[in-house]
Amino acid sequence: RAYTKDDIRQKIVDENVEFLRLQFSDVFGNIKNVEVPVSQLEKVLSNNLMFDGSSIEGFVRIEESDMYLYPDLATFMIFPWATDEHGGKVARLIADIYTVDREPFAGDPRSNLKRVLKQMTADGFSKFNLGTEPEFFLLKLDEKGKPTMNLNDKGGYFDLAPLDMGENTRREIVLEMEKMGFEVEAAHHEVAPGQHEVDFKYADALDAADNIQTFKLIVKTIARKHGLYATFLPKPISGINGNGMHVNMSLFNDAGNAFYDEEGELQLSETAYHFLGGVLEHAASFTAITNPTVNSYKRLTPGYEAPVYVAWSGSNRSPMVRVPASRGNSTRLELRSVDPTANPYLTFAAILTAGLDGIERKLEPTHAVDRNIYLMDESERRRAGITDLPDTLLEAVSKLQEDEVIQSAIGKHMARTFVDAKRLEYQSYRREVSQWEIDNYLEQY
Ligand code: GLN
Ligand code: MG
Ligand code: MG
Ligand code: MG
Repeated sequence: RAYTKDDIRQKIVDENVEFLRLQFSDVFGNIKNVEVPVSQLEKVLSNNLMFDGSSIEGFVRIEESDMYLYPDLATFMIFPWATDEHGGKVARLIADIYTVDREPFAGDPRSNLKRVLKQMTADGFSKFNLGTEPEFFLLKLDEKGKPTMNLNDKGGYFDLAPLDMGENTRREIVLEMEKMGFEVEAAHHEVAPGQHEVDFKYADALDAADNIQTFKLIVKTIARKHGLYATFLPKPISGINGNGMHVNMSLFNDAGNAFYDEEGELQLSETAYHFLGGVLEHAASFTAITNPTVNSYKRLTPGYEAPVYVAWSGSNRSPMVRVPASRGNSTRLELRSVDPTANPYLTFAAILTAGLDGIERKLEPTHAVDRNIYLMDESERRRAGITDLPDTLLEAVSKLQEDEVIQSAIGKHMARTFVDAKRLEYQSYRREVSQWEIDNYLEQY
Protein backbone atom coordinates (compact mmCIF):
# COMPACT_ATOMS: atom_id res chain seq x y z
CA ARG A 1 0.00 0.00 0.00
CA ALA A 2 2.94 2.31 -0.55
CA TYR A 3 2.03 5.12 -2.96
CA THR A 4 4.55 7.04 -5.00
CA LYS A 5 4.10 10.74 -5.65
CA ASP A 6 3.03 9.86 -9.18
CA ASP A 7 0.39 7.43 -7.93
CA ILE A 8 -1.07 10.22 -5.86
CA ARG A 9 -0.95 12.76 -8.73
CA GLN A 10 -2.77 10.23 -10.93
CA LYS A 11 -5.43 9.30 -8.39
CA ILE A 12 -6.19 12.95 -7.76
CA VAL A 13 -6.96 13.46 -11.44
CA ASP A 14 -8.84 10.16 -11.89
CA GLU A 15 -11.05 10.61 -8.85
CA ASN A 16 -11.63 14.34 -9.18
CA VAL A 17 -10.08 15.23 -5.84
CA GLU A 18 -10.46 18.96 -5.15
CA PHE A 19 -9.13 19.29 -1.64
CA LEU A 20 -6.31 17.76 0.34
CA ARG A 21 -6.57 17.41 4.06
CA LEU A 22 -3.31 17.15 5.99
CA GLN A 23 -3.97 15.45 9.31
CA PHE A 24 -1.96 15.21 12.49
CA SER A 25 -2.72 14.74 16.18
CA ASP A 26 -2.00 17.01 19.11
CA VAL A 27 -0.66 15.80 22.46
CA PHE A 28 -4.19 15.05 23.67
CA GLY A 29 -5.01 12.88 20.67
CA ASN A 30 -7.29 15.40 18.97
CA ILE A 31 -7.14 15.15 15.20
CA LYS A 32 -6.16 18.44 13.61
CA ASN A 33 -6.17 19.21 9.95
CA VAL A 34 -5.25 21.79 7.41
CA GLU A 35 -7.17 21.68 4.15
CA VAL A 36 -5.63 22.99 0.97
CA PRO A 37 -6.98 23.11 -2.59
CA VAL A 38 -5.43 20.59 -4.91
CA SER A 39 -3.48 23.40 -6.61
CA GLN A 40 -1.11 23.14 -3.62
CA LEU A 41 -0.34 19.48 -4.30
CA GLU A 42 3.30 19.96 -5.31
CA LYS A 43 4.00 22.01 -2.22
CA VAL A 44 2.46 19.24 -0.12
CA LEU A 45 4.40 16.45 -1.83
CA SER A 46 7.72 18.28 -1.45
CA ASN A 47 7.26 18.73 2.34
CA ASN A 48 6.95 22.47 1.95
CA LEU A 49 3.50 23.07 3.36
CA MET A 50 3.82 25.30 6.42
CA PHE A 51 1.40 26.03 9.18
CA ASP A 52 1.37 28.07 12.35
CA GLY A 53 1.53 25.72 15.33
CA SER A 54 1.29 28.38 18.02
CA SER A 55 -2.46 28.09 18.54
CA ILE A 56 -2.48 24.31 18.82
CA GLU A 57 -2.82 23.39 22.47
CA GLY A 58 0.34 21.91 23.88
CA PHE A 59 2.45 22.60 20.81
CA VAL A 60 4.98 25.43 20.96
CA ARG A 61 5.85 28.81 22.27
CA ILE A 62 4.76 31.72 20.09
CA GLU A 63 8.29 32.55 18.88
CA GLU A 64 8.84 29.20 17.21
CA SER A 65 5.46 28.68 15.72
CA ASP A 66 6.16 27.96 12.04
CA MET A 67 6.12 24.26 11.25
CA TYR A 68 6.32 22.03 8.21
CA LEU A 69 3.99 19.16 7.44
CA TYR A 70 5.69 16.05 6.02
CA PRO A 71 2.94 13.85 4.57
CA ASP A 72 3.29 10.08 4.88
CA LEU A 73 2.42 8.97 1.34
CA ALA A 74 1.27 5.52 2.53
CA THR A 75 -1.64 7.18 4.38
CA PHE A 76 -3.19 8.69 1.23
CA MET A 77 -6.92 8.01 1.20
CA ILE A 78 -9.93 9.49 -0.59
CA PHE A 79 -12.95 10.07 1.65
CA PRO A 80 -15.89 8.25 0.10
CA TRP A 81 -18.51 10.56 1.56
CA ALA A 82 -17.09 14.04 1.22
CA THR A 83 -18.38 14.99 -2.21
CA ASP A 84 -19.82 18.37 -3.13
CA GLU A 85 -22.59 19.06 -5.66
CA HIS A 86 -20.25 18.78 -8.68
CA GLY A 87 -18.68 15.54 -7.45
CA GLY A 88 -15.38 16.90 -6.16
CA LYS A 89 -13.72 14.77 -3.52
CA VAL A 90 -11.55 15.29 -0.48
CA ALA A 91 -8.42 13.21 0.12
CA ARG A 92 -6.34 13.04 3.22
CA LEU A 93 -2.72 12.43 4.10
CA ILE A 94 -1.45 11.94 7.63
CA ALA A 95 1.59 14.09 8.22
CA ASP A 96 4.53 14.29 10.60
CA ILE A 97 5.40 17.68 11.98
CA TYR A 98 8.83 19.18 11.41
CA THR A 99 10.32 22.37 12.82
CA VAL A 100 11.53 25.30 10.69
CA ASP A 101 14.98 23.72 10.98
CA ARG A 102 13.55 20.57 9.39
CA GLU A 103 13.92 18.42 12.48
CA PRO A 104 11.08 16.14 13.72
CA PHE A 105 9.10 18.25 16.18
CA ALA A 106 9.35 16.96 19.78
CA GLY A 107 5.68 17.76 20.41
CA ASP A 108 4.43 15.53 17.59
CA PRO A 109 3.06 12.25 19.00
CA ARG A 110 3.41 10.45 15.66
CA SER A 111 7.09 11.36 15.20
CA ASN A 112 7.66 10.33 18.80
CA LEU A 113 6.16 6.90 18.18
CA LYS A 114 8.54 6.49 15.22
CA ARG A 115 11.42 7.35 17.53
CA VAL A 116 10.33 4.67 20.04
CA LEU A 117 9.91 2.12 17.24
CA LYS A 118 13.53 2.78 16.23
CA GLN A 119 14.51 1.95 19.79
CA MET A 120 12.58 -1.31 19.45
CA THR A 121 14.49 -2.17 16.27
CA ALA A 122 17.77 -1.45 18.05
CA ASP A 123 16.64 -3.92 20.73
CA GLY A 124 16.36 -6.64 18.07
CA PHE A 125 12.63 -6.66 17.28
CA SER A 126 11.06 -6.00 13.91
CA LYS A 127 7.41 -5.23 14.63
CA PHE A 128 5.01 -4.30 17.42
CA ASN A 129 1.57 -5.44 16.24
CA LEU A 130 -1.59 -4.04 17.76
CA GLY A 131 -5.22 -5.00 17.48
CA THR A 132 -7.55 -2.60 19.28
CA GLU A 133 -11.19 -2.91 20.33
CA PRO A 134 -12.62 0.60 20.64
CA GLU A 135 -16.14 0.84 22.08
CA PHE A 136 -18.61 3.69 21.71
CA PHE A 137 -22.18 4.73 22.50
CA LEU A 138 -24.73 5.97 20.00
CA LEU A 139 -26.81 8.81 21.47
CA LYS A 140 -29.86 10.53 20.04
CA LEU A 141 -29.55 14.10 18.82
CA ASP A 142 -32.01 16.84 19.82
CA GLU A 143 -33.84 19.12 17.33
CA LYS A 144 -30.86 21.47 17.31
CA GLY A 145 -28.48 18.65 16.41
CA LYS A 146 -26.88 18.54 19.87
CA PRO A 147 -26.20 15.17 21.51
CA THR A 148 -28.63 14.19 24.24
CA MET A 149 -28.04 11.61 26.97
CA ASN A 150 -30.71 9.35 25.42
CA LEU A 151 -29.28 6.07 24.19
CA ASN A 152 -30.64 4.95 20.88
CA ASP A 153 -31.53 1.40 21.90
CA LYS A 154 -31.99 -1.01 24.80
CA GLY A 155 -29.89 -3.84 23.34
CA GLY A 156 -27.23 -5.89 25.11
CA TYR A 157 -24.21 -8.03 24.27
CA PHE A 158 -24.47 -9.47 20.74
CA ASP A 159 -28.20 -8.62 20.49
CA LEU A 160 -29.84 -8.46 17.05
CA ALA A 161 -32.42 -6.08 15.60
CA PRO A 162 -35.07 -4.94 16.43
CA LEU A 163 -33.52 -4.46 19.87
CA ASP A 164 -30.33 -3.30 18.26
CA MET A 165 -31.40 -0.14 16.45
CA GLY A 166 -27.81 0.85 16.00
CA GLU A 167 -27.48 -2.06 13.60
CA ASN A 168 -27.95 -0.04 10.42
CA THR A 169 -25.61 2.67 11.57
CA ARG A 170 -23.03 0.12 12.58
CA ARG A 171 -23.33 -1.67 9.21
CA GLU A 172 -22.79 1.53 7.33
CA ILE A 173 -19.76 2.30 9.48
CA VAL A 174 -18.33 -1.10 8.50
CA LEU A 175 -19.05 -0.54 4.81
CA GLU A 176 -17.42 2.90 4.81
CA MET A 177 -14.42 1.47 6.66
CA GLU A 178 -14.04 -1.21 4.01
CA LYS A 179 -14.16 1.41 1.27
CA MET A 180 -11.33 3.15 3.07
CA GLY A 181 -9.17 0.04 3.18
CA PHE A 182 -9.92 -1.33 6.64
CA GLU A 183 -10.32 -5.06 7.12
CA VAL A 184 -13.20 -5.31 9.58
CA GLU A 185 -13.18 -8.59 11.52
CA ALA A 186 -16.30 -8.18 13.64
CA ALA A 187 -18.87 -5.62 14.66
CA HIS A 188 -21.37 -6.16 17.43
CA HIS A 189 -23.62 -4.64 20.02
CA GLU A 190 -21.76 -4.31 23.33
CA VAL A 191 -22.97 -5.10 26.84
CA ALA A 192 -24.51 -1.71 27.65
CA PRO A 193 -27.62 -0.33 25.90
CA GLY A 194 -26.65 1.86 22.95
CA GLN A 195 -23.07 0.57 23.07
CA HIS A 196 -21.17 -0.90 20.12
CA GLU A 197 -17.79 -2.29 19.15
CA VAL A 198 -16.09 -2.64 15.77
CA ASP A 199 -12.95 -4.76 15.57
CA PHE A 200 -10.58 -4.22 12.67
CA LYS A 201 -7.48 -6.13 11.73
CA TYR A 202 -4.31 -5.63 13.75
CA ALA A 203 -1.50 -3.58 12.25
CA ASP A 204 1.98 -2.45 13.20
CA ALA A 205 2.05 0.31 15.80
CA LEU A 206 2.14 3.33 13.49
CA ASP A 207 -0.66 2.10 11.22
CA ALA A 208 -2.68 0.93 14.22
CA ALA A 209 -2.52 4.42 15.74
CA ASP A 210 -3.40 6.09 12.41
CA ASN A 211 -6.28 3.62 12.05
CA ILE A 212 -7.78 4.53 15.41
CA GLN A 213 -7.81 8.20 14.49
CA THR A 214 -9.43 7.45 11.12
CA PHE A 215 -11.89 5.04 12.71
CA LYS A 216 -13.15 7.67 15.16
CA LEU A 217 -13.65 10.12 12.33
CA ILE A 218 -15.66 7.56 10.32
CA VAL A 219 -17.82 6.54 13.28
CA LYS A 220 -18.66 10.13 14.19
CA THR A 221 -19.36 11.08 10.57
CA ILE A 222 -21.66 8.13 9.84
CA ALA A 223 -23.48 8.39 13.18
CA ARG A 224 -24.34 12.01 12.39
CA LYS A 225 -25.66 10.99 8.99
CA HIS A 226 -28.10 8.75 10.87
CA GLY A 227 -29.16 11.49 13.28
CA LEU A 228 -27.03 10.08 16.10
CA TYR A 229 -23.99 11.17 18.06
CA ALA A 230 -21.18 8.67 18.64
CA THR A 231 -19.24 9.15 21.85
CA PHE A 232 -16.02 7.44 22.90
CA LEU A 233 -16.17 8.96 26.37
CA PRO A 234 -15.13 6.23 28.85
CA LYS A 235 -18.14 6.55 31.16
CA PRO A 236 -20.91 8.74 29.80
CA ILE A 237 -23.56 7.12 32.01
CA SER A 238 -23.04 5.80 35.53
CA GLY A 239 -24.43 2.40 36.49
CA ILE A 240 -23.73 0.71 33.14
CA ASN A 241 -20.53 -0.44 31.40
CA GLY A 242 -18.22 2.21 30.03
CA ASN A 243 -16.21 2.43 26.81
CA GLY A 244 -12.90 0.61 26.83
CA MET A 245 -10.34 0.19 24.10
CA HIS A 246 -8.66 -3.16 24.71
CA VAL A 247 -5.21 -3.35 23.18
CA ASN A 248 -3.98 -6.74 21.90
CA MET A 249 -0.26 -6.70 21.42
CA SER A 250 2.49 -8.90 20.07
CA LEU A 251 6.15 -8.38 19.40
CA PHE A 252 7.89 -9.86 16.38
CA ASN A 253 11.48 -10.59 15.49
CA ASP A 254 12.91 -12.15 12.34
CA ALA A 255 11.98 -15.60 13.61
CA GLY A 256 8.29 -14.69 14.07
CA ASN A 257 6.14 -13.96 17.10
CA ALA A 258 8.55 -13.38 20.00
CA PHE A 259 5.78 -14.03 22.56
CA TYR A 260 5.28 -17.64 21.46
CA ASP A 261 7.22 -20.60 22.74
CA GLU A 262 5.75 -24.05 22.28
CA GLU A 263 7.74 -25.30 25.28
CA GLY A 264 7.06 -22.34 27.57
CA GLU A 265 4.60 -22.16 30.44
CA LEU A 266 1.19 -21.44 28.84
CA GLN A 267 3.22 -21.62 25.59
CA LEU A 268 4.50 -18.13 26.26
CA SER A 269 8.16 -17.24 25.76
CA GLU A 270 10.57 -15.72 28.28
CA THR A 271 10.31 -12.54 26.22
CA ALA A 272 6.53 -12.50 26.69
CA TYR A 273 6.90 -12.89 30.46
CA HIS A 274 9.51 -10.13 30.68
CA PHE A 275 7.41 -7.83 28.47
CA LEU A 276 4.43 -8.54 30.73
CA GLY A 277 6.64 -7.89 33.77
CA GLY A 278 7.49 -4.46 32.34
CA VAL A 279 3.85 -3.67 31.58
CA LEU A 280 2.81 -4.55 35.15
CA GLU A 281 5.75 -2.63 36.63
CA HIS A 282 4.88 0.58 34.76
CA ALA A 283 1.09 0.18 34.60
CA ALA A 284 0.24 2.67 37.32
CA SER A 285 2.50 5.30 35.77
CA PHE A 286 1.33 4.89 32.17
CA THR A 287 -2.32 5.06 33.25
CA ALA A 288 -2.30 8.88 32.90
CA ILE A 289 -1.55 8.27 29.22
CA THR A 290 -3.88 5.31 28.60
CA ASN A 291 -6.71 6.85 30.68
CA PRO A 292 -6.15 10.58 30.33
CA THR A 293 -9.44 12.19 31.40
CA VAL A 294 -11.20 12.80 34.72
CA ASN A 295 -13.99 10.64 33.33
CA SER A 296 -11.61 7.71 32.62
CA TYR A 297 -11.51 6.95 36.36
CA LYS A 298 -15.28 6.61 36.57
CA ARG A 299 -14.89 3.63 34.22
CA LEU A 300 -12.07 1.97 36.19
CA THR A 301 -14.41 0.88 39.00
CA PRO A 302 -15.49 -2.64 40.06
CA GLY A 303 -18.50 -4.28 38.45
CA TYR A 304 -18.33 -3.08 34.85
CA GLU A 305 -15.76 -5.36 33.18
CA ALA A 306 -13.07 -2.72 33.42
CA PRO A 307 -9.91 -3.37 35.44
CA VAL A 308 -9.20 -1.81 38.82
CA TYR A 309 -6.09 -3.74 39.81
CA VAL A 310 -2.68 -4.37 38.29
CA ALA A 311 -2.80 -8.11 37.65
CA TRP A 312 -2.81 -10.60 34.82
CA SER A 313 -4.40 -13.92 33.99
CA GLY A 314 -3.94 -16.71 31.50
CA SER A 315 -7.69 -17.20 31.18
CA ASN A 316 -9.89 -15.05 33.43
CA ARG A 317 -11.32 -11.86 31.90
CA SER A 318 -11.31 -9.65 34.97
CA PRO A 319 -7.63 -8.60 35.26
CA MET A 320 -5.85 -5.77 33.57
CA VAL A 321 -3.88 -8.08 31.28
CA ARG A 322 -5.27 -11.27 29.82
CA VAL A 323 -3.73 -13.85 27.49
CA PRO A 324 -6.25 -14.63 24.73
CA ALA A 325 -6.39 -18.30 23.72
CA SER A 326 -4.69 -18.11 20.28
CA ARG A 327 -1.09 -19.27 19.99
CA GLY A 328 1.53 -19.50 17.27
CA ASN A 329 1.83 -16.24 15.34
CA SER A 330 -1.35 -14.94 16.99
CA THR A 331 0.06 -15.20 20.51
CA ARG A 332 -0.69 -11.93 22.24
CA LEU A 333 -1.29 -10.05 25.46
CA GLU A 334 -4.50 -8.08 25.87
CA LEU A 335 -4.27 -4.89 27.93
CA ARG A 336 -7.80 -4.06 29.10
CA SER A 337 -7.32 -0.82 31.00
CA VAL A 338 -6.92 1.52 28.02
CA ASP A 339 -9.90 3.68 27.05
CA PRO A 340 -10.65 5.44 23.77
CA THR A 341 -9.80 8.94 25.06
CA ALA A 342 -6.15 7.87 25.03
CA ASN A 343 -3.88 9.37 22.38
CA PRO A 344 -3.03 6.14 20.49
CA TYR A 345 0.45 7.33 19.45
CA LEU A 346 1.46 8.13 23.04
CA THR A 347 -0.27 5.02 24.36
CA PHE A 348 1.59 2.64 22.06
CA ALA A 349 4.89 4.41 22.74
CA ALA A 350 4.32 4.07 26.50
CA ILE A 351 3.24 0.41 26.48
CA LEU A 352 6.06 -0.62 24.15
CA THR A 353 8.64 1.21 26.26
CA ALA A 354 7.28 -0.44 29.43
CA GLY A 355 7.52 -3.87 27.80
CA LEU A 356 11.01 -3.29 26.39
CA ASP A 357 12.16 -2.11 29.82
CA GLY A 358 10.82 -5.39 31.24
CA ILE A 359 12.77 -7.35 28.61
CA GLU A 360 15.95 -5.40 29.24
CA ARG A 361 15.72 -5.78 33.03
CA LYS A 362 14.40 -9.36 32.78
CA LEU A 363 11.46 -8.47 35.02
CA GLU A 364 9.26 -11.35 36.13
CA PRO A 365 5.52 -10.77 36.31
CA THR A 366 3.62 -11.51 39.51
CA HIS A 367 1.78 -14.84 39.55
CA ALA A 368 -1.22 -15.16 37.29
CA VAL A 369 -4.53 -14.63 39.05
CA ASP A 370 -7.07 -17.14 37.87
CA ARG A 371 -9.84 -16.35 40.29
CA ASN A 372 -12.16 -13.37 40.51
CA ILE A 373 -10.06 -10.57 42.01
CA TYR A 374 -13.21 -8.74 43.06
CA LEU A 375 -13.98 -11.55 45.50
CA MET A 376 -10.55 -11.26 47.16
CA ASP A 377 -10.11 -8.95 50.13
CA GLU A 378 -7.26 -6.49 50.39
CA SER A 379 -4.89 -8.75 52.33
CA GLU A 380 -5.42 -11.60 49.85
CA ARG A 381 -4.64 -9.20 47.02
CA ARG A 382 -1.50 -8.00 48.82
CA ARG A 383 -0.25 -11.53 49.25
CA ALA A 384 -0.82 -12.20 45.55
CA GLY A 385 1.22 -9.09 44.69
CA ILE A 386 -1.80 -7.30 43.23
CA THR A 387 -1.64 -3.50 43.39
CA ASP A 388 -4.24 -0.85 42.52
CA LEU A 389 -4.54 1.21 39.37
CA PRO A 390 -4.75 4.96 40.14
CA ASP A 391 -8.16 6.13 41.39
CA THR A 392 -8.07 9.59 39.91
CA LEU A 393 -6.42 11.51 37.11
CA LEU A 394 -4.48 13.44 39.75
CA GLU A 395 -3.00 10.28 41.25
CA ALA A 396 -2.20 8.94 37.79
CA VAL A 397 -0.35 12.14 36.86
CA SER A 398 1.69 11.98 40.08
CA LYS A 399 2.65 8.40 39.26
CA LEU A 400 3.72 9.44 35.76
CA GLN A 401 5.93 12.15 37.27
CA GLU A 402 7.70 9.52 39.37
CA ASP A 403 8.52 7.31 36.38
CA GLU A 404 11.44 8.40 34.22
CA VAL A 405 11.03 5.47 31.84
CA ILE A 406 7.46 6.35 30.87
CA GLN A 407 8.26 10.06 30.67
CA SER A 408 11.08 9.24 28.26
CA ALA A 409 8.64 7.13 26.22
CA ILE A 410 6.63 10.22 25.32
CA GLY A 411 9.66 12.52 25.36
CA LYS A 412 10.47 15.30 27.83
CA HIS A 413 8.67 17.98 25.79
CA MET A 414 5.34 16.17 25.70
CA ALA A 415 5.67 14.78 29.23
CA ARG A 416 5.90 18.33 30.54
CA THR A 417 3.01 19.67 28.44
CA PHE A 418 0.90 16.67 29.26
CA VAL A 419 1.46 16.78 33.02
CA ASP A 420 0.85 20.54 33.23
CA ALA A 421 -2.34 20.36 31.19
CA LYS A 422 -3.72 17.35 33.06
CA ARG A 423 -3.08 18.97 36.45
CA LEU A 424 -5.02 22.04 35.32
CA GLU A 425 -7.79 19.83 33.96
CA TYR A 426 -8.08 18.05 37.29
CA GLN A 427 -8.09 21.32 39.26
CA SER A 428 -10.85 22.67 37.04
CA TYR A 429 -12.90 19.53 37.74
CA ARG A 430 -12.20 19.69 41.47
CA ARG A 431 -13.64 23.18 41.76
CA GLU A 432 -17.05 22.01 40.56
CA VAL A 433 -19.70 20.83 43.02
CA SER A 434 -21.37 17.69 41.69
CA GLN A 435 -24.94 16.48 41.87
CA TRP A 436 -23.73 13.56 44.01
CA GLU A 437 -22.61 15.95 46.74
CA ILE A 438 -25.94 17.77 46.71
CA ASP A 439 -27.89 14.50 46.79
CA ASN A 440 -25.83 12.95 49.58
CA TYR A 441 -24.87 15.91 51.76
CA LEU A 442 -27.20 18.84 51.40
CA GLU A 443 -29.96 17.61 53.65
CA GLN A 444 -27.59 15.86 56.02
CA TYR A 445 -25.49 18.84 57.11
N1 GLN B 1 -16.88 -2.20 28.18
C1 GLN B 1 -15.89 -2.95 28.93
C2 GLN B 1 -14.75 -2.00 29.33
O1 GLN B 1 -14.99 -0.99 29.85
C3 GLN B 1 -15.37 -4.12 28.15
C4 GLN B 1 -16.45 -5.12 27.83
C5 GLN B 1 -15.96 -6.21 26.92
O2 GLN B 1 -15.46 -5.97 25.85
N2 GLN B 1 -16.10 -7.43 27.31
O3 GLN B 1 -13.59 -2.27 29.17
MG1 MG C 1 -14.02 -7.24 22.00
MG1 MG D 1 -15.73 -5.04 24.05
MG1 MG E 1 -11.27 -7.68 24.42
